[in-house]
Parts: sequence; structure tokens; C-alpha cells
Amino acid sequence: MMRLDDKTALITGAAGGIGRAVAERYAAAGARVAIADLDAEAAEAAAEAIRHAGGEALALAMDVTDEAAVEAGVARLVAHWGRLDIALANAGIQHIQPLHELSLADWRRVLAVHLDGAFLITRAALRRMYAQGGGCLLYMGSVHSKLASPLKAPYVTAKHGLLGLCRTVAKEGAAHGVRSNLICPGFVRTPLVDRQIPDQARALGISEEAVIRDIMLKDTVDQEFTTLEDIAEVALHLAAFPSAALTGQSVVASHGWYMQ
Ligand code: NAD
Repeated sequence: MMRLDDKTALITGAAGGIGRAVAERYAAAGARVAIADLDAEAAEAAAEAIRHAGGEALALAMDVTDEAAVEAGVARLVAHWGRLDIALANAGIQHIQPLHELSLADWRRVLAVHLDGAFLITRAALRRMYAQGGGCLLYMGSVHSKLASPLKAPYVTAKHGLLGLCRTVAKEGAAHGVRSNLICPGFVRTPLVDRQIPDQARALGISEEAVIRDIMLKDTVDQEFTTLEDIAEVALHLAAFPSAALTGQSVVASHGWYMQ
């Protein structure tokens, strides 16, 4: 099994869903993990669960769109553990609406969490990683970093944008020992996905079962959801990978929904 002993990791949006699963996997592999989330109480509960299982974890209350909060969170982590080896920009939200009805406020809200959030984490992490001579940036993209679906314009736009940021970090970071990769999951049953099933059913006038069968899993090779464990495994592999042979890449884990 790949190990992350003596590494420290920051994961945003890690109080639940995919971020929490990755945090638990990293901790089990020996890393010290900071759980950064808007929901401070849930972040503390996630950190406590990791400590209870014998790992080392720190909860950070952080809105990733808030420049001062991101700077303060990273500073607190570095004061606590002395270094930052892995940063995963994972916090994300979804919004289901056709473009012609979309408000500028909703467009901006989704882009801000994904893109402003990823930029602020990237900048804070790079400053630290350049000073210490290396590190690993990871981004939670999506199959929607590669293709579009109707009703998800801001999300699809933001996820495509992360591909550009990831590749730029790979180019600029190389001279400083920093690698950068994008993880692109298919549908995983988390609150983010569970919330959009009734929203899509309503917007399209079809049943929730039809949303799952005819939209979400239609193009997979086996009509299966991707799991939290699948994504945690990919995230561990990318974090532990020993060289810059893997940088500027995107790994799609989607049961064949999207083949690159
Ligand atoms: P989730 O809703 O279960 O978890 C998201 C977490 O992010 C929550 O804990 C939430 O409190 C936090 N968050 C939201 N806004 C924040 C902010 N401004 N600052 C800090 N934290 C904030 O969602 P998830 O499914 O686990 O999604 C995690 C990431 O994976 C997202 O980027 C999402 O786009 C991506 N993703 C999810 C799927 C899927 O099918 N679930 C597929 C592809 C990509």
C-alpha cells in the first residue's frame, strides 16, 4: 500500500462527502490531515473521528472564497505541523438550472467556490511549498471537466477551469518540486448528488429513478456509481506518486462514462 508517513495534507470541503473519505484514507496512510470546511462543527466531528481511529487531524473553519480565512487556515496548519506537503482543493457546490434562467448571483456563487477557492488554496500552498522545496497540489475536478451536461452551466464551466489551473501549476511548480493533478470522478452518492436528483427530475419532468438510470449512469460501462473508496484510492495514488512523471494530468474515475 502507498504510504504518506510524515506528510501533512490540507483538504477543503472535507467535513463530509468525498473530501472526508480522502482525509480518512490519507490519515490511514500515515499523513497528518487538516479538515477545512465552511461547516466548522462537521469539520471538528470529522477530525475527531480520525483521531479516534488513531490518526492525526486538525479541523479548520474556512470559507474557501474568503481570502483572509484561507490565509489564516494555512498559517494555522503550518504553525501546528511546520510544513504543508499536499493540498487538495475539493470544496464544491452544484446548481441545477437552465442557462436562460440563471441569475448572475448563482453563476458567481458556484464559480467562486470552485475557482476562487482553488486559486486561494493554490497560492497559499505554493508559497509554503516553494519555501520548503516541494509539494503536491490536487484538484477535485469531475467528468464535467471534460464534457458538458445540460442544466449545470456554472459547474461545468468551473470544472473545465480547474483543468487550466492544474496545468498551469504543473508548469510553474516544476522548478520548485511541486506536482499538480486533477481528479475527475463520475457520479458518487454524496449529499451533493443526492440533492440534485430531485432538482433534475423537476427541471426535466421525469422521475428520480429516470434521472439516475437515463442520465447519471447511462453512459457507464456497468451502470454503477463511483464510490468514495474509489476516489480516495486515486487521491492517495496521486499524492504518494514518487516523481513528476505524473503532473499536469487528469485521472478520470467514472466507470467508463468518459474515456480519454
Ligand atoms: P458534498 O456536498 O458532500 O461536500 C462538499 C463539502 O464542501 C461540504 O462539507 C461543504 O460544507 C463544503 N463546502 C461547500 N462550500 C464551501 C466553502 N465555500 N468553503 C469551504 N467548504 C465548503 O459534496 P461532494 O460530492 O463530496 O463534492 C466534493 C467535490 O467533489 C466537489 O468539488 C464536487 O464538485 C466534486 N465532485 C463530486 C462528484 C459527485 O458525484 N459527488 C462528482 C465529481 C466531482
